[in-house]
Amino acid sequence: MPRVLIAEDETAIADAVLYALRSEGIEADHCLLAREVAPRVRAGGVDVVVLDVGLPDASGFDVCRELRGFSDVPVIFLTARNDEIDRVLGLELGADDYVTKPFSPRELVARVRARLRRSVAPKADAGASLERGAFAVDRDGHRIRFRDQLLDLTRYEYALLDALLQRPGAILSRAQLMDRGWDSDADSADRTVDTHVKTLRAKLRAAGADPDPIRTHRGLGYAIET
Ligand code: CA
Repeated sequence: MPRVLIAEDETAIADAVLYALRSEGIEADHCLLAREVAPRVRAGGVDVVVLDVGLPDASGFDVCRELRGFSDVPVIFLTARNDEIDRVLGLELGADDYVTKPFSPRELVARVRARLRRSVAPKADAGASLERGAFAVDRDGHRIRFRDQLLDLTRYEYALLDALLQRPGAILSRAQLMDRGWDSDADSADRTVDTHVKTLRAKLRAAGADPDPIRTHRGLGYAIET
């Protein structure tokens, strides 16, 4: 049975979430402090972490960074303010999703379920490798080389570039690109994809890709030329 760990110092919120998860057959534990999270994940048996950004002893961002040092466990942030959302969407932290307070426990349960499905179902094309022009994709290692240089990509940049390289020249919509990489609100999808395309372009440029191989098709999406 899947198990969720909720780190939240507001017990009313935590109780509502615990109740909603348990009534859907998902086991859930709760902790109040940031410093409790990593030891519990290390101990094993945690399938998803729901992490409040504002915890009493440290921020959820610090906790997420610590977790990413040793674990790929999906992290869903609970955020209270717009500036927190911006940081979550920066995604340098390796967060998988976020929910904005106030939220309905039902909505959070749906997000948790989506993460659980994703971690159970391997990607259909995992394990293959691919060469496209100057690009070489190593799917086992989640690495992409450009002209034999290893690109230092976040997992989202990797997902975007991998998706584009599967069908060079084909225009993929932002929604299609989101599907390949992560779950999020539809209304934040465009901005999230654009943000990652921007950072990806900067890395490709730094690796000597000139002209920019990623084409923007206004109102449609992105394509890559190899
Ligand atoms: Ca809090």
